Amino acid sequence: MNLMAIPMSRRQAFKVMIGFGGTVASVVLPKPALASPEEHPAHPVAPPDAVAMLYDSTICTGCKACMPACNEANGLPTDTVLSGGIWDMPTGLNAKTKNIIELYQDPQSNEFAFVKKQCMHCLDPACVTGCPFGSLVKRDLGAVTWNSSLCIGCRYCEVACPFEVPQFQWDSWNPKIVKCEFCYDQRLKENLEPACTAVCPTGAVIFGKRDALLHQAKDRIAAAPGKYFESRIYGEHEAGGTQVLYLSNVSFQKIGLPKLGPTSIGHYATKVTSKIYKWLGGPILMAGVLGFVIRRNWNRHELERLEHEKKTGYPDQL
Ligand code: SF4
Ligand code: SF4
Ligand code: SF4
Repeated sequence: MNLMAIPMSRRQAFKVMIGFGGTVASVVLPKPALASPEEHPAHPVAPPDAVAMLYDSTICTGCKACMPACNEANGLPTDTVLSGGIWDMPTGLNAKTKNIIELYQDPQSNEFAFVKKQCMHCLDPACVTGCPFGSLVKRDLGAVTWNSSLCIGCRYCEVACPFEVPQFQWDSWNPKIVKCEFCYDQRLKENLEPACTAVCPTGAVIFGKRDALLHQAKDRIAAAPGKYFESRIYGEHEAGGTQVLYLSNVSFQKIGLPKLGPTSIGHYATKVTSKIYKWLGGPILMAGVLGFVIRRNWNRHELERLEHEKKTGYPDQL
């Protein structure tokens, strides 16, 4: 059958391509089936070279200088849809926004806090375990980066990430997965710190070795009893530990950081997949699961697209 002979919209054509590509490739390359729980310890230990960011919400002024710095370092356009083309105004992480400052506000109690969101660079990243094609990789220093040549756009990484970080470029014929990569290629490789930490005028977000930043965060907690929420550091243990660490004076959940246990999600995932592959014939099941995920994501995208058009009055570009 010649697919090109059938009249179809760009959206339909892309849908066929990723559905077909996803199913075939998942049969050929069932990578998660090959990972064992032993490769993903429940409580991973950070390697000695692991770098990190420490974000202290109590020092952040919400100036947002880190946002255009991130866009510039990563060659990303501004997101001006909601501002009618005037200024950068993203409402969350998206395909043009790898780093965002959000405001939590409780009008009743007047409690408020800023929060910086970007990839957490998990010690054992669920996106890496979840990607069937190895297109997300944990690099040296601990940066989690994405490789376009291996990605088929299944969006499995989006489903796997507990922090809802990876974003799919819906308005491109050659879509990428967009997420903070710790400025690995742009700056870390050149021995430069990430753009967001380099530009922050208050030191609310700083860069360094993970061990050293954990010590520094603990010193801040000890020096100001009662100041920080639960006197603890978010990211020290969550989901097996992350390389972005948070201090806050309001609840971590209120500022949008999910409540997660100390066990690595990769560990859970490989425990489940290794059992499934042992008993149920992995490649066939994997193809089915991926087909389901792809279809579900497309349906979700249709809803997002309609909602976007209703909210902004702008037609979707696909
Ligand atoms: S540049 Fe620093 S102070 Fe300004 S919003 Fe970003 S983290 Fe907060
Ligand atoms: S926060 Fe999400 S995208 Fe980033 S490393 Fe962790 S699982 Fe991957
Ligand atoms: S490390 Fe780089 S890509 Fe990540 S949020 Fe900071 S500036 Fe953006």
